[in-house]
Amino acid sequence: SMASPALLMRVVASAYSVAEKAATIVRNVMSAGDLGIVEKAGPNDLQTKADRLVQMSICASLARKFPKVTIIGEEELPTDDVNEDLIEDGHCEEILKKPCPAQYTGIKEEELVIWVDPLDGTKEYTEGLLDHVTVLIGIAYGGKAIAGVINQPYYNYEAGANAVLGRTIWGVLGMGAFGFQLTEAPAGKHIVVTTRSHSSALVNECITALNPDAVIRVGGAGNKIIQLIEGKASAYVFASPGCKKWDTCAPEAILHAVGGKITDIRGNPFQYNKEVKHMNSAGVLATLRNYDYYASRIPNTVKESLVP
Ligand code: AMP
Ligand code: MG
Ligand code: MG
Repeated sequence: SMASPALLMRVVASAYSVAEKAATIVRNVMSAGDLGIVEKAGPNDLQTKADRLVQMSICASLARKFPKVTIIGEEELPTDDVNEDLIEDGHCEEILKKPCPAQYTGIKEEELVIWVDPLDGTKEYTEGLLDHVTVLIGIAYGGKAIAGVINQPYYNYEAGANAVLGRTIWGVLGMGAFGFQLTEAPAGKHIVVTTRSHSSALVNECITALNPDAVIRVGGAGNKIIQLIEGKASAYVFASPGCKKWDTCAPEAILHAVGGKITDIRGNPFQYNKEVKHMNSAGVLATLRNYDYYASRIPNTVKESLVP
């Protein structure tokens, strides 16, 4: 008989279904029309009813199946007494059938940390820039992002009524990433993708120093990693604090699974152990290819302005 699947593969298979349920909630809240917007730190740091419901759905669903795993979500909300309608107990059978990379087969529940961004790109969600929105579930072990799920609830929403709406991208280090077509950015062109709603003088100074051929300003950390792996942009550059561990964990796992690289602006790797500070204070630098080209051109003055 077949051995039961490794814990990591069971967590990823469940996270896949939990992220699809999350996407349904994100779409339902928008079509119902009452976003219930709350300002957190200020007008550029928002929470909607979708952020709240999805946080409860993801965290309660995963906690029920994997009670010893540490789950850290962006929104501060209870995980107990969550409405049963929000619980997803399914999993993706196709993921469960895949062999777990050998180095991860012995992982125990208490060794995993799951970083959850229930809705990344909330500002854009409230402005109707729906394809910027993603749901992020990142899985860390030994302080490293080793697996992740990115759901894009409104993928294809401009393709017309017959197009299938939404998609789920997932990946595991040592296995690769699935659910999209890996594409390199145009050779010899330097296309930078960055924030559209959290800019600053330093963010712009850093981009100017890279002398890019084009700059794409879009919302969401998840969305910007998708731009990299689908060849729309060659580097994600964000010389500012603001991004948190739940923004980068799932994107990092998927980018690294396909040979890319993400660090802070100074070149330091991110840590994802449960005790770590949430804020990525020294910004973000990510590429699918040619990381060193961009890293070597970040001005020292910019690096020195960002304290990890
Ligand atoms: P952005 O590229 O602006 O969409 O930011 C990526 C992620 O980091 C999103 O989850 C943002 O909410 C978060 N973020 C970046 N900068 C800030 C900031 N100044 N305040 C609050 N959240 C931020
Ligand atoms: Mg976010
Ligand atoms: Mg969020």
